Amino acid sequence: MVNDFGKRTDVNELGEFGVIDHLTKNFVNRNASTLKGVGDDAAVIETKDGVKLVSTDFLVEGIHFDLMYMPLKHLGYKAVVVNLSDIYAMNGIPEQITVSIAISNRFSVEALEELYAGIEAACKYYKVDLVGGDTTSSPKGLVISVTAIGQGKKETTTYRSTASVGDLLCVTGNLGAAYLGLQLLEREKQIYLSNPGVQPDLEGQNYLVGRQLKPEARVDMIELFAKSELVPTAMIDISDGLASEVFHLCKQSKVGAFVEESGVPLHPDTELQAINFKLDPITCALSGGEDYELLFTIAPDQIEKIKYLPDIYIMGEMVPAADGINLHTKGGNVHAIKAQGWRHF
Ligand code: ADP
Ligand code: MG
Repeated sequence: MVNDFGKRTDVNELGEFGVIDHLTKNFVNRNASTLKGVGDDAAVIETKDGVKLVSTDFLVEGIHFDLMYMPLKHLGYKAVVVNLSDIYAMNGIPEQITVSIAISNRFSVEALEELYAGIEAACKYYKVDLVGGDTTSSPKGLVISVTAIGQGKKETTTYRSTASVGDLLCVTGNLGAAYLGLQLLEREKQIYLSNPGVQPDLEGQNYLVGRQLKPEARVDMIELFAKSELVPTAMIDISDGLASEVFHLCKQSKVGAFVEESGVPLHPDTELQAINFKLDPITCALSGGEDYELLFTIAPDQIEKIKYLPDIYIMGEMVPAADGINLHTKGGNVHAIKAQGWRHF
């Protein structure tokens, strides 16, 4: 686009977060019911009996998925899961979804049935209702957009902006596995393309490939928080990698943080495969993404509550903003953690 002065700014100059900030900075909320607009995992809208949570995402063929190794049924499942994850990240429960698709004539009814079988499986597992959407044609490829609507309580809704200095930084599950699953699938794709006779060799890689092709959202953690009467002080889901999500929590809460490398949970298969690919496992956790785990902070006096909860790991602490966002390595060094959204328009 060219403005009146003939200046053309490439979107890559601003990056993903910069573009969103730039485009939305002049918008004001005109309704008192809008408790949170742009800037969190989901919008928060006040209702008579709590809050409604709304989140939406696009999945574009060739950018977010490759049908050479992503079965349509898995794609449908994943498209739903990534949106539900954003509702859980607000400490809410998703109840409805809408699904919109743009399809080229390459897709048959049978192919779309596969996609919807995956969507249905996710609806069943996560107990959400498909309540609408839109269908249109696309000149090339498949585009899916899912919107998730959830329910929460005003007092227990968890934002990105409410972490305090001294809060403990926690994470669920383990990180970096989905990224390595993608690297494995990409490697096999390249081998297949250069020699179509060769069958993919993914033996023993079920865990990593599964984390990429069939991610799950942490509804179990939200249920556990409720049962333990634990309300995180802030929360975000890990879609873009730990580095980027810690950065969002810090920026919006106006604090800094440190992450202990030794506290970042890694699956044994992640450590093994990272080394096979000559990658540092911690880099996979920091920059990989698509883990759909929850990153959250708790007040220090809540430590007894989470110490004995399964699959939750304390890996750092929130510090004054002036101290920055740092990784304390196992070797005793301190590295600044940098956020990275995508830059691939
Ligand atoms: P997430 O990674 O959790 O899906 P995003 O980084 O996609 O979050 O989005 C961050 C925030 O910016 C969200 O509040 C989202 O609704 C908002 N947002 C993203 N793109 C746009 C857009 N084009 N216009 C308005 N708001 C947007
Ligand atoms: Mg999110």
